[in-house]
Amino acid sequence: MRILVSNDDGYFAPGLAALARALTPFGEVVVVAPEQNRSGASNSLTLDRPLVVSTAQNGFYYVNGTPTDCVHIALTGMFQEPFDLVVSGINNGQNMGDDTLYSGTVAAAMEGFLFGLPAIAFSLAEKGIDHLDSAAKVARDVIARHAEQALPTPFLLNVNIPNLPYDDIKGIVSTRLGKRHPSEPVFVSANPRGEKVYWIGAVGAARDAGPGTDFYALANARVSITALRVDLTDTTLLSSVETWLAK
Ligand code: MN
Repeated sequence: MRILVSNDDGYFAPGLAALARALTPFGEVVVVAPEQNRSGASNSLTLDRPLVVSTAQNGFYYVNGTPTDCVHIALTGMFQEPFDLVVSGINNGQNMGDDTLYSGTVAAAMEGFLFGLPAIAFSLAEKGIDHLDSAAKVARDVIARHAEQALPTPFLLNVNIPNLPYDDIKGIVSTRLGKRHPSEPVFVSANPRGEKVYWIGAVGAARDAGPGTDFYALANARVSITALRVDLTDTTLLSSVETWLAK
């Protein structure tokens, strides 16, 4: 199996190295990751300047672009040989509920999915990487399951892992995305020249976090796997819009 690995925390992130290490037993691992931390980059492509690929001492490729750029160029000509799987992470922080829309970690995997490949995003809940080894073991378990018996391709899995020792994790469950309250208010301060500056506020607290959601799984020490799709069409509103237009 030839595996493309990326992330949004940057090529120097411990979570990326841990993930790449965990995947080596499954085949050839190629890492293409952003030069800088591009968390929150979502599915953005860089279209106003060329992208430069450099090689780090450990063999990781890094790109002066977004997570989506990395996977996009890796799948569209940077390499001759095709990939069998795209994996992203392990993100420093969870990507649950509405986070998935903003997440560069999920976006990197989603780019693979859009190219028809199986794709999996891994995130370690809560900031901090105390139990990164444990998360890497979980990633290995998930990929082992995929290697043994793959889901129908393509698929996009969003995996969130509790920040706990491996033995304290109580299993892996299939979930749906929960929902958050709107984000915290913007933080306003001044820069040294007295100009007003704004910091985007923290994410909102979980709102729909009941049984069956990703939030619920993590709150109960379980790994959450949410199968995602990309179709944004609101099928329940299609006929309403038709009626609305006909009036
Ligand atoms: Mn990140």
